[in-house]
Order: sequence, then structure tokens, then C-alpha cells
Amino acid sequence: MDLGNNEPNTGSKNLKSAKSVIVIGAGFGGISTALRLRARGYAVSLIDRLDHIGGRAQVFERGGFMHDAGPTVITAPFLFQELFELFSEKLEDYINIVPLDTWYNFYFHDGRSFNYYRDLDKTKNEIAKFNLSDVEGYNALLKDSKNIFEVGFSELADQPFVNFSKMIEQVPKLLKLKSYLTVSQLVKRHIKDEHIRRAFSIHPLLVGGNPFSTTSIYALIHYLERQWGVHFCMGGTGKLVKELRDLMLRNGIKIQLSRQIDDIIIENNKAIGIKDTNGNQSIADIIVFGGDAPYAYKKMLPSHLNRQFIRRPSKLTKYSMGMFVLYFGARKTWPNVAHHTIWLSARFKELLKDIFDNHILSEDFSIYLHRPTATDKSFAPPNCDSFYALCPVPNLQASINWEIEGQKLRDRIIAALERTILPGIKDTITDDFWMTPEDFQKDYLSVHGAGFSISPIFSQSAYFRFHNRDPQIRNLYFTGAGTHPGAGLPGVISSAKIVEKLIIEDNLD
Ligand SMILES: Cc1cc2nc3c(=O)[nH]c(=O)nc-3n(C[C@H](O)[C@H](O)[C@H](O)COP(=O)(O)OP(=O)(O)OC[C@H]3O[C@@H](n4cnc5c(N)ncnc54)[C@H](O)[C@@H]3O)c2cc1C
Repeated sequence: MDLGNNEPNTGSKNLKSAKSVIVIGAGFGGISTALRLRARGYAVSLIDRLDHIGGRAQVFERGGFMHDAGPTVITAPFLFQELFELFSEKLEDYINIVPLDTWYNFYFHDGRSFNYYRDLDKTKNEIAKFNLSDVEGYNALLKDSKNIFEVGFSELADQPFVNFSKMIEQVPKLLKLKSYLTVSQLVKRHIKDEHIRRAFSIHPLLVGGNPFSTTSIYALIHYLERQWGVHFCMGGTGKLVKELRDLMLRNGIKIQLSRQIDDIIIENNKAIGIKDTNGNQSIADIIVFGGDAPYAYKKMLPSHLNRQFIRRPSKLTKYSMGMFVLYFGARKTWPNVAHHTIWLSARFKELLKDIFDNHILSEDFSIYLHRPTATDKSFAPPNCDSFYALCPVPNLQASINWEIEGQKLRDRIIAALERTILPGIKDTITDDFWMTPEDFQKDYLSVHGAGFSISPIFSQSAYFRFHNRDPQIRNLYFTGAGTHPGAGLPGVISSAKIVEKLIIEDNLD
């Protein structure tokens, strides 16, 4: 299925050249790269194997209930505004991104609850209910995470890490920021109460990392939220994807859907084109891969290039966790349930160890519950709520029979919600279905069905993550969650900025 002009209009904006670019994979990384390169005057084709763009941000509609399948939290809206500004347009003319007042409600196993607010004083009052001295500790944690943010995000997130010298340059700063600590160790230094410790340790999970092994660099997400807030796109992330698609089509980007690329064709150390599953080839001056980077190296490139950027044998590479996502509607509403709830089991560290290291699907679980109808009633019919419950589970490196375990986990989640924050759900649930890591592998070609590509541990970050440009093939670039700076919408959109910078620097004439 083709959208847009058959002959890409090379446009008039910054018409540097009409060199052609093929971007494989229309997730947020691929979309942002396509837009950035189009604005530079390249003739851009964006190709995806699915019948829609957005990648993990697909939209499901069942029985009048709408669900964003993947991302729901917008933390750095300016990154989306920038994409419209590339074409002298304004995001606000198309999309309403609203700040939330309650960012997350944490619901603990003992029935206690902690509201994490946009308002700092209200957040501190909530902390004081658990431990008064943690209010001071929180000030110190925020200070540390601000310092990390100023280097990790402001200075480094959109900078290429393709040379080892760049990594070496950063070492003194990283040491000063104590990046040898894990996120959990950093939080523990400042916060005494176990509930609040858990609440402020969860950020690495938002990008696929275990807080007990993820470098404290990722504590920057804490400050990123404070800097710009936690937002929701009215109409959902799907609305954002739709408007980005229209922006691409208005500006002459050719979009090809339902086309799976099997090979990136390399000749004389140059990427010259791509071959799809039907054997059809397309040529281009520049190729950008926006799917799961390890997949490209394992399956799409000649075997002599199939070696790890991250300098370790493939079997030592750590992948992020898998996800079981249960989507459901309810013929009832729970007005007191927040837009975002983090529902935590009694076990925390041990549960994460089971998921990430032991690869065991345990009886207990923790979930992130999304209730978009708290902010946007269009997600459900009148007097109904729409939900998804995201449950971190082992990726496909574990041997779990999801045919059997999917139903069982669904039943355990609903029973737990019935007992706690959604009384009445058992009798009112409707139109439920779920995704397992097998769907992530099948739909997105994610290696091991991982939710966020490779894990964000120190030895797989920055220079040690998949590079945004292949070290040997100079016109082959990478964007998206497996590349520097990493997963999450701010990360993958920043990776597109890096690809743009590299392509401009490389001046491939
Ligand atoms: C359930 C869930 C909730 C999340 N919540 C949030 C959130 O609230 N906030 C946030 O910031 N982040 C969130 N994230 C993370 C964020 O969604 C991802 O990190 C980000 O969307 C990944 O974007 P990407 O550009 O790497 O590409 P992806 O979204 O992975 O898309 C890649 C696309 O490339 C296609 N593709 C791959 N290989 C090929 C090929 N060979 N040929 C053709 N097409 C191919 C795939 O089919 C896919 O469509 C969430 C993720 C999930 C799964």
C-alpha cells in the first residue's frame, strides 16, 4: 500500500540535493528521521511492514473502546513541536497536548497509595505522609537527577557516539555524576521509606531496564518529567501519529506500507538499496534502518557485518523485558482511578530479578494501568472506561507457553484489580484482548520479543549501544530504540536528530 506521491516531490525547502533516502521502519524514530531529512531536501521514502505507521504506537478499536497499544505518556512535547517547525507549521494547529496534574498514582501491596503530582509541594506533602525526612532526601534526589539530566539529556542525548574518543571524553563527567551507581542505589542514598524508594526507582522500566542494574544516568528521566511535565495527547498517541503522517504526506514523503524488507543490499562497502519479501528491490543513496537494530545485524545484512557494535558476543547481549499488555473496556467507570496508576506487588527487587535474570513468569506481578478516559472520554462509549494493563514479563529468552499463560495472567490481573482498585471489573469487563512478547516479535520484528530492544545498562549505552551509523558502511544509518540514546519517545526522536547530524556531516557526495 503506497501513500503520497509515487515520485517524491523534492520540494523547495533547503534544496541541498535530491539524493534519495529509504527509511525502513515507521516508528517514531523512523518518522522523525524521514521528516528531518525531507526538510533538508532529500527525497524520502518511509517503508513499514505493517499496514500503518507508528510502530509500537498502533491503535486498537474494539466494541467502541479505543486503545493506544504502546506509548501513552508524552514527556518532552517540544520534540514533537520541532518536527512541525521544520516545515514552518505549528503542532498546536493540529494537536492538543495537555499537561496532567496527577502524573502517577502508586498503589502498594499494603493498600497505601502515593500520588506523584505536577505540583512539587503537593508531591512533598505526599512523601511526608510516608516519612517526613524523605522530603529533604527528595530535594537531594531531584538535585542529583537535574545534574545528570543537564549532561545526559541536554548535552549528550542528541550527540553521535560513533567514536570511542567521544566516550572517553565523557568519562570524567560520568564519574562525577556517579553513573557507576544503579538507579536504585542512587534513590536509596536519598530516600529511606521503602514505598517511596520503589516509586522513584521505576523510571528505568519506562525504557526497558531493571532499576537494580540500570546506570543512574537514567535517573535523568525523573528530572525530564519535572522540566517539561507529563502530558497526554488528546485523541491519544494515535492522533499524534495520524498528524505526523499527514505532515509527511503534505511534504512529499512517500510512505509504503505492508512491505517487509528482508535485505539491505551492500556492494563495495556501500548500501545501494533494499530487497523486500517479494524479491522487489529499490535503490537509494542513503539507507536508514528504524526497526530493531539487532534484528538488522542478525537478519538483514551480509554475515561479515553481523558482528556486535557493542563489542560482546551476541549471547552476552542483554535484552529488555517482554510485555504482556491487556486491553479492556468496562461498562462502568471508576472516576477516582488516575490516568496512570502503577500497581505494585509485594515483591519488588525479587520480582524484577525473576523477570530480567531468572526468566521466570511468577505468580505475582506489577502493572502499569492506563485509564485514558480519565482525561479523554472519546476512548470509550458513554458511562464506560477504557483501560490497558501493562505487565512486565520475561522476554522470549524464557520458555513460556503464552497460548496457555496469556489467559491465566489475564485472569490473575483482573482478579487483583477487582480486589483492589477496580471493584466490579469482573462483572463489567468487555472486549478484552492482549499482546504477549510473541506478538512483539511477530509484529515489530523485535529480537526475543523485547519491549524496548537491548537493555539500557551502562555497557550497552552511548558508544556501547548500536551506533547511529554503521562503522564500515558509511551510508547506512540507524535510528530507534536499540540505538543511542535509547528507547522511549524522547530517546528515539533524539536518535533521529543524530542521524540527521551525521548525514549532514558526512556530506555523501
Ligand atoms: C506498551 C508500551 C508502552 C510504552 N509507553 C511509553 C510511554 O508512555 N512513553 C514513552 O516515551 N515511551 C513509551 N514506550 C516506548 C516507546 O513506545 C518506544 O521506545 C518507541 O515507540 C520505539 O520507537 P522506534 O522508532 O524504535 O520504533 P518501533 O515503534 O519499534 O517501530 C519500528 C517499526 O519498524 C518496522 N520494521 C522493523 N523491521 C522492519 C523490516 N525489516 N521491514 C519493514 N518494517 C520493519 C516494525 O514493524 C515497526 O513498525 C512504550 C512502549 C511500549 C511497547
